[in-house]
Amino acid sequence: MPDPIIDWSEVETVLLDMDGTLLDLYYDNHFWQQYLPEHYARLHSIDLAQARTLLSEKFQARQGELEFYCIEHWSRELELDILPLKSHVDEYVRYLPGALALLQMFGNRGIEKVLVTNAHRQTLSLKDELVGICKHVDAHYASHDFGLPKEAVDFWPALANAHYFDPAKTVLIDDNSAVLDAASHYKLAACVLPLRPDSSQPVRNASHRLPVHRDKKNTTRLLPIESLLDLLP
Ligand SMILES: [Mg+2]
Repeated sequence: MPDPIIDWSEVETVLLDMDGTLLDLYYDNHFWQQYLPEHYARLHSIDLAQARTLLSEKFQARQGELEFYCIEHWSRELELDILPLKSHVDEYVRYLPGALALLQMFGNRGIEKVLVTNAHRQTLSLKDELVGICKHVDAHYASHDFGLPKEAVDFWPALANAHYFDPAKTVLIDDNSAVLDAASHYKLAACVLPLRPDSSQPVRNASHRLPVHRDKKNTTRLLPIESLLDLLP
């Protein structure tokens, strides 16, 4: 047997991202990059390429900010009701390979599971109704509750203030390297980066995605994985 990537007997708490970590990012990519531009093009009688360019410029301008994840912001900005549109493609909301087995393994070992998502609460509710994600975790937090995205260094002490965890015995799993970069300042035991958040896309290259520790005293281990299945003992 190869050595496990993480010795789970040393871990008390696991902080889990939702989209692209437990759930297939294909749904979100399909909605924002395909369904919404098509809908927007029809609505404004412009061609699809124009709609795509216009929307992607708006999205890029908000990347990493709380508004980027806020469906109320995009409903106002695009003068569209985003939530009912999202439910039009909800057949694509599904778990990534290994997600349920991993959650079960954590449960069997008594490791506390905390869902920590940048998704808007309404998006979390929509996904929870479809795949029952909240019943698989012990607690769930949306970054909107704190007024800060997970990419902000200050988010992590704010989360720890709301929900106790011992950083030295805590592992974070998140497909967003900017999030891992911010969280690693909080000296977690390990930050895990899944490299295939969208099942329709190939595995991402890890080399330029992993955050670099500029602080020499930062002891957080940074671990890229191709699949959640790699974390199972
Ligand atoms: Mg994610």
